[in-house]
This record gives sequence, structure tokens and C-alpha cells, in this order.
Amino acid sequence: MFKLQNLQSYRDENGKPWVLPVVRKMEKKMSEDPTLLHEYLPVLGLEQFSNASVSMLLGEDSPAIAAGRTFGVQALSGTGGLRIGAELLNKHLKYTTFYYSNPTWENHHLVFVNSGFTQPRTYRYWNPKTRAIDFDGFIEDLKNAPENSVIILHACAHNPTGIDPSQEQWEKIADVMEERKLFPFFDSAYQGFASGDLDRDAWAVRYFVKRGFELVCAQSYAKNFGLYNERVGNLAVVMSDARHAAAVRSQLTWIVRGMYSNPPAHGARLVAAVLADKQLFDEWRDHIKLMSSRVMGMREALRSELVKLGTPGNWDHIVKQIGLFSYTGLTPRQTEHLIKEYHIYLLKSGRINICGLNPGNVEYVARAIHDAVTK
Ligand code: PLP
Repeated sequence: MFKLQNLQSYRDENGKPWVLPVVRKMEKKMSEDPTLLHEYLPVLGLEQFSNASVSMLLGEDSPAIAAGRTFGVQALSGTGGLRIGAELLNKHLKYTTFYYSNPTWENHHLVFVNSGFTQPRTYRYWNPKTRAIDFDGFIEDLKNAPENSVIILHACAHNPTGIDPSQEQWEKIADVMEERKLFPFFDSAYQGFASGDLDRDAWAVRYFVKRGFELVCAQSYAKNFGLYNERVGNLAVVMSDARHAAAVRSQLTWIVRGMYSNPPAHGARLVAAVLADKQLFDEWRDHIKLMSSRVMGMREALRSELVKLGTPGNWDHIVKQIGLFSYTGLTPRQTEHLIKEYHIYLLKSGRINICGLNPGNVEYVARAIHDAVTK
């Protein structure tokens, strides 16, 4: 029995959760540090952590950071960043319409509606026929969006399809959003984890900042640090004018104060320490490279098994996609066949978590897919 469906996290080659060695090392060190107390953090969290997060997202040499036009707020992982960002946009800045991709991560709708947004809309994203982005549909939907709509954009490794816009496509998206006065809300849940390269995975966000957009971005350390249950995240805020920073910080302070008072310390201390130390940072970078290359290796292996078997259809999309998830393009009938006949569990939409694959089962899975497709 292979579970390729609801798994939301990374698994190693033996199908086991993986605690990053640099995390283990830091936790040991922290447990022996008598200066680490259990006092409350400030409402907006650990400043060293949120500054390091903004810098990781925008690049150390970002002119926006140098100009004082950015700041970060520690959040309860990526979901918490989305929530406080959405509260800010709705309660204080009066945005009411938000757009998310069809399909998207299942929580976007709920988080935004619960934050007060009353007009949920979708933009076209996945074209099942081409197994690629429906780019014309995407652009048309943005062109028809009312001014001042908030557009949720996956910074990289789109969940659930695994397909990201190309750089040229991002440029076009930015053109339309600028023209239509749409507000970008980036969701960055996979920086570094997706391609193994922190800068490459932040390209789209940095591009929008360079173009002069004001934006917010929810950052998560669940996947790239494997700190799923520690709820370590950040909301990065980029403004056009540094003079507004104090006012926006104060609005966010009220939002957090009224929701959970202040965030937890452990994970943020750990991440801040790793990001601040060259040697620890390099160790961490090796870990994210290892995780992303295992995922990419399994994508390659699955595709090559299918090609070897001569399974009808084109399977290139499996390697063109990035991150944990793959929209295989299998139909509901084919997925049912895999479940019933082979005990390979995946979503009706054909989405699998690539981490469910390992060198020991990938051939079996490919044979099963072959059987389902040729039945
Ligand atoms: N956004 C996307 C696209 C995700 O895939 C996830 C997690 O799977 C999240 C946000 C939030 O994750 P977390 O709140 O655990 O950081």
C-alpha cells in the first residue's frame, strides 16, 4: 500500500519524516543555553527572525530593504502569515475581493473569508488537456478583475499542480496587475525547498518588488526547515513609502494582539540562529538541496519508468513540475483503478505527493499507472 495522496510533508527514501540535522544540532545547543528563557516575545515576534526572513525573501542587497520600505512580522507559519496579511488588507485597507488560482491550496479560501473578505473569485490556472498553465485564461481573468482586488500568487512550487509561470509569464502577469491596479499577495511556502536554490525560488517576488509593487508575502519554514509543527513563519510587507511603515506596523500589532497576543519563540529562535551563522546556513542549504534533489530524482524516475514501459501519453509534465506535488493528469477512473487494484492511494484529481515515491516502489507505481492508462 502506497499513500501518495494526503501526505503534506517531506519523507525520506524510507518513507520516514526527516528532522534536519542542523535543527537537531541547534535544539541540543538551545536546550543547554541558560540565557534562553520562556518570557513572552513582543507582539510582532522576534525582530532578528523577521528581518532575516525578509532578507532571505528579497535578497540581502535589496534596494527596498535599504530604503526602509520593508518589514516583517513573525507569524504562525505560512497560514498565520496569510491570515494576518488578509486581516490587514480587509480590516484596515478595506479590500473585499480576492482571487485564487483554480485549483489552489485548499485553505486559501477559508483563511481569506474568515478574515472578512466577502468576494471570493478564482482565476484559471491549470489546463488538464495540455497539463500546463492555462495562461491565456489566467491573463483574461486578471484583465476582468475589478480594480483593487487582491490576487493570491504562489511564489514558487504551485500547490497542487507543481507548475509555475515562466519568467516571461510572470512579466506579463505583472504588466496586467499594474494596469488593472491589482494587489499581489504572495504565498511563499517552499522557498529553497522547491529548486534547492533560495534565490531562484524567490525570483517572482523580487521581480514584483523591482517593478515597484506594494505587496505582502506569507513565508513558511514548515517545509524548508522541516519545522511543520513549530509554526514558524513571517509576513513580509513591502511598501512604496517608508513613512507608512510605522502606521502599518501598528495596525498589525492590533491584529495580532486581538488574535493570539504574541507568537511562540522556539522555532523562530532556531531559524534566526541558522540564518545568522554562515556555517549553519551552509549546512541548511545543503539539506534543502538534498530534499529538493530527492524529489526531482523521483520525478525523473517515474517519468523514465513510464517512458520505458511505453505508457501512452506524454509524461514530461512530471519533470517540468516542481515541489512536493504533481498533477499526474490521471483521470478519476484511472485513479480509482490504482486504488482498487494496486492499493496506491491518490486524490481523485490525480494529485500525488512525490515524496510517497522511493527507489523501492517507483517501478511498481509506474507499472500500475501503465495498467490504468491502457485499460
Ligand atoms: N501555502 C501553501 C501553498 C501551502 O502548500 C502550505 C502548506 O502546505 C501553506 C501555505 C501553509 O503551511 P504552513 O501553515 O504549515 O506553513
